[in-house]
Amino acid sequence: MHGGRESQARSYVPYTHRDLEDLPQLRALTPARRRAMQAVAAVLPFRANAYVVEELIDWSAVPDDPIFRLTFPQPDMLAASELARIESLMTAGAAPQAIRAVAREIQAELNPHPAGQQALNVPQLDGEPLRGMQHKYRETVLFFPGQGQTCHAYCTYCFRWAQFVGVSDLRFAASRPDGLVTYLHAHPEVTNVLLTGGDPMIMQASALRRHVEPLLDPSLEHVGTIRIGTKAPAYWPQRFTTDPDADELLRLFEEIRAAGRQVALMAHYSHPRELSTPIAREALRRIQDAGAVVRCQAPLIRGVNDDSETWAELWNTQVRLGAVPYYMFVERDTGPRDYFAVPLAHALRIYDDAYRVLTGLARTVRGPSMSTTPGKVLVDGVARVGGEQVFVLKFLQARNPAWVGRPFFARFDRHAVWLDELRPAFGEEAFFFEKELERVAQ
Ligand SMILES: *Cc1c(COP(=O)(O)O)cnc(C)c1O
Ligand code: SF4
Repeated sequence: MHGGRESQARSYVPYTHRDLEDLPQLRALTPARRRAMQAVAAVLPFRANAYVVEELIDWSAVPDDPIFRLTFPQPDMLAASELARIESLMTAGAAPQAIRAVAREIQAELNPHPAGQQALNVPQLDGEPLRGMQHKYRETVLFFPGQGQTCHAYCTYCFRWAQFVGVSDLRFAASRPDGLVTYLHAHPEVTNVLLTGGDPMIMQASALRRHVEPLLDPSLEHVGTIRIGTKAPAYWPQRFTTDPDADELLRLFEEIRAAGRQVALMAHYSHPRELSTPIAREALRRIQDAGAVVRCQAPLIRGVNDDSETWAELWNTQVRLGAVPYYMFVERDTGPRDYFAVPLAHALRIYDDAYRVLTGLARTVRGPSMSTTPGKVLVDGVARVGGEQVFVLKFLQARNPAWVGRPFFARFDRHAVWLDELRPAFGEEAFFFEKELERVAQ
């Protein structure tokens, strides 16, 4: 029903920090580089798999290869002094507990909980906070299924890195969808649920079914779309082709459609190479044959995808494969920021240069967008107004829907990498939303 099996079956086995010592491909790197990788992996999470290592990374281009930089620990993920601190402990043969203690100190300095993720946005039912859910934008509830809080490989820039190293505890994940269902009954304004993680596609199809089926009940007719945020099509396309329960997973998508709902895979593709392998393309085709729409999003990362040709190719290839370009994000203000940060002005230039050469079919994409406490802020352009050079900004999503779409202006700053570094233009004291935000975000 879902087409042929050209690609060989292979089961998923994670590569962890222990593999950094003996992966044969790493022998091409200098000993200093390998020491640095192990030191970084003591602080920030590492995980990969045979598909990423053997089919996505171009080892002849390492250490500059974009997929290598996307998945393997890089020296610039830590400040030089912190890297040196861990390295000297390791060289001196320090006990693992001693290294872990220093790693914890460094982790604490890396802003593990950006944009009020933990305290804000947690919905309540009868005055009780609901576990495993966030409700920030009126139409969309985020749900974090308990078994879906890891990934088939880890991105070096991941803004959820803290949960993978146990700094941010997983108490926010939900083991059952009961609370979600009750909440949705009380909230007819919610038109879609976004299952997210980690990566919910790490779950067995049967576990995913337990979370999805209750949402298909006729009493929840207002939930028209079930979204699943995932990087599995990029990091482990076998999930949709040769994994033992791949067909069962696709049948679940078909059942969502048969229940009169839409299923949208919010697929995270960072680089066109992730779309280039036969199995990646087969996975996309099978997902779409099962009736799911694939919408694509990724952050802009220095040294991984920070040029316009890469984005133009990424978006054009997505359209060619039937997927829909959706968001280009500015990476969040957490973790190894010196490693990934691209100034907003530069991000805008990359976005605009890529956008100009797209067909209209690919101009469904929006960006560069920052996910901040007040909302998703689009850097829409740079303009000169009354002699002042300014960023033109607007909300694509906002905590208060009334803020969406209203242009606002910040003084141009070529070095700024995030909203909190921007100042209002035209001598104003604050951005228009700040007073109200102080009230709602207490
Ligand atoms: C991005 C995001 C959403 C979804 O926004 P869309 O613009 O509808 O894709 C929902 N909730 C949170 C917290 C988000 O960051
Ligand atoms: S796929 Fe998403 S959640 Fe998983 S490591 Fe990458 S950015 Fe983080």
